[in-house]
Amino acid sequence: MDTEPARPETHPGDQAPPGTPGTGENTCRACKGTGVVDDKPCSECGGTGVVIEGIGGA
Ligand SMILES: [Zn+2]
Repeated sequence: MDTEPARPETHPGDQAPPGTPGTGENTCRACKGTGVVDDKPCSECGGTGVVIEGIGGA
């Protein structure tokens, strides 16, 4: 019986799953952190207002 491991939810705007080394939460540009665009949940961040992006960079 397959038991799916609890894995962090990701969204289209995420560059990596939460907890990935070298990444961190950033304010979603699509909704500016409100989680709402045009009175609908933001599709980029899933309505959370934050996305996971790489930090530090090259
Ligand atoms: Zn958003």
